[in-house]
Amino acid sequence: MKLCNVCGVPAPRHCGGCGNFSYCSEKHQKSDWSEHKKVCRPFRIKHSAELGDYLVADKDLKAGDLVLYEEAAVLGPLLGPMVMQKDGNQKSLCLGCYFPAFDYQCSSCQVPLCGPACQNSSPHIQECEILKTNNLGTKIKEDPELIGIITPLRFFLLKENDFPTYNKCIKLSSNMAERRKQPNFQEYKEKARSYSELLNNMIDEELMLEILAIIDTNTFQVLAQRCAENLCGLYPRVAKINHSCIPNARLIFQKDYSLKIICTIDVKKGDPVYISYVPPFYTTLARQRILERGKQFTCSCQRCQDPIENGTFISALRCESCKEGFTVRRSDNVCACIKCGSKMDPEQFNNIDMKLFSVQTNIVQDSVDELEMVMYQYSDILHPNYALLTECRQHLAAAIGRTDGFRYDQLTPEKLQYKIKISAALMQVLDRLEPGLSKSRGITLLDLAEAQARMVAMTTKDEMKQKQQYSQILQFVEEAAEILNYEDETSIEGNVKKHALTQLQNLRY
Ligand SMILES: [Zn+2]
Ligand SMILES: [Zn+2]
Ligand SMILES: [Zn+2]
Ligand SMILES: [Zn+2]
Ligand SMILES: [Zn+2]
Ligand SMILES: [Zn+2]
Repeated sequence: MKLCNVCGVPAPRHCGGCGNFSYCSEKHQKSDWSEHKKVCRPFRIKHSAELGDYLVADKDLKAGDLVLYEEAAVLGPLLGPMVMQKDGNQKSLCLGCYFPAFDYQCSSCQVPLCGPACQNSSPHIQECEILKTNNLGTKIKEDPELIGIITPLRFFLLKENDFPTYNKCIKLSSNMAERRKQPNFQEYKEKARSYSELLNNMIDEELMLEILAIIDTNTFQVLAQRCAENLCGLYPRVAKINHSCIPNARLIFQKDYSLKIICTIDVKKGDPVYISYVPPFYTTLARQRILERGKQFTCSCQRCQDPIENGTFISALRCESCKEGFTVRRSDNVCACIKCGSKMDPEQFNNIDMKLFSVQTNIVQDSVDELEMVMYQYSDILHPNYALLTECRQHLAAAIGRTDGFRYDQLTPEKLQYKIKISAALMQVLDRLEPGLSKSRGITLLDLAEAQARMVAMTTKDEMKQKQQYSQILQFVEEAAEILNYEDETSIEGNVKKHALTQLQNLRY
């Protein structure tokens, strides 16, 4: 439960204007109003036939302003197969607190739990009896993939436990008409039928199908706090925020799995608020494939319409005719060199894009040698910022300074300079694709500043000069700290923030 904005005790009343703040009593709500009204109603929900419900700013918002704060209406394991660990063992998570369960199980229904504490007080209590009645603990043990039944079951149980929230969730879009056209729809239906059967038709097949589709369309992957596993969370208000491949807002997960949305850049009254459902360093065709398959819509955002993607050329191939210009795909599907005009068959362009995407999604992220090999192998035929190369740069920047053989104390000045160069190149792409207070910018800036500070220490002996150079680097760290300051202190990402603040102190000597 949220806490009172005035006194910090658990608070059942939410502000009716924005829903973002809570109060223990009418008295505290009234006493806070003169302050709260400045930030109340940051958005309103609009509707269009094409886009459905979506959020627009209802006042001029500044970078960093809170748009929305929401608790998870449904939280549980992902619907897909469980992730296999490297040693081939499947990790079972406690269904109460998502801590590794080791070998303990619920003494009543036999699903994995971490210990007796989670049997008596946790989200598991609501479903325990139903799982026991249907012998699902044993069935999940035999086929661990069946753990996917938990989240739709929790969704359904809201109907009894919290009907207003259930009502909001069940009205969310399921994209059923588009789903029916997709090749895997039969499999999907089959899953709904078997889940429904496993629960002895407590949820009929049709409703189960609808619930699965709503979960697939609207949930976010949430990192479990105590192990590096993904859960899925449903946030009915956040689910209404539209997507753009150049977002103006971002998600910040809190330790209690509630979610904050802040603006990353200024947003004018009446403008839509956008978050991005896809990573920034994917080509236009790759992003559109993912959004069409996973979210059932064709993105037509500003970046997708722009063949050079805000000047980044992230999907551009080097022209085979003139070797100087770059071949880009326009939104009317014509592929041509921007310098000599030489055309390329769109199907060929598409095939190259798919092939490179498969290389991109299979690269070994922490091997400096392999990343450099990939860059070497493909740089002649691609724009220097091409998705695959930019992603390699991102992993290289993270690996150099940290992985064995490339730790900071093992680096030559040349290698350190190389890290600085690729981090700076990454920043330039991020400035255009995820401007403002984006987390990637914060982390990259911090990393860049650390490398620069080490470079100064390594190469500049004069103390006065050192001080001068540090003061320039300090600006980067300050900006990184400002960005990362929005992270929840106690969350996993909060650690990066702590690192930024320590660095800041070290540089301000
Ligand atoms: Zn209070
Ligand atoms: Zn309010
Ligand atoms: Zn537990
Ligand atoms: Zn149980
Ligand atoms: Zn787009
Ligand atoms: Zn050309």
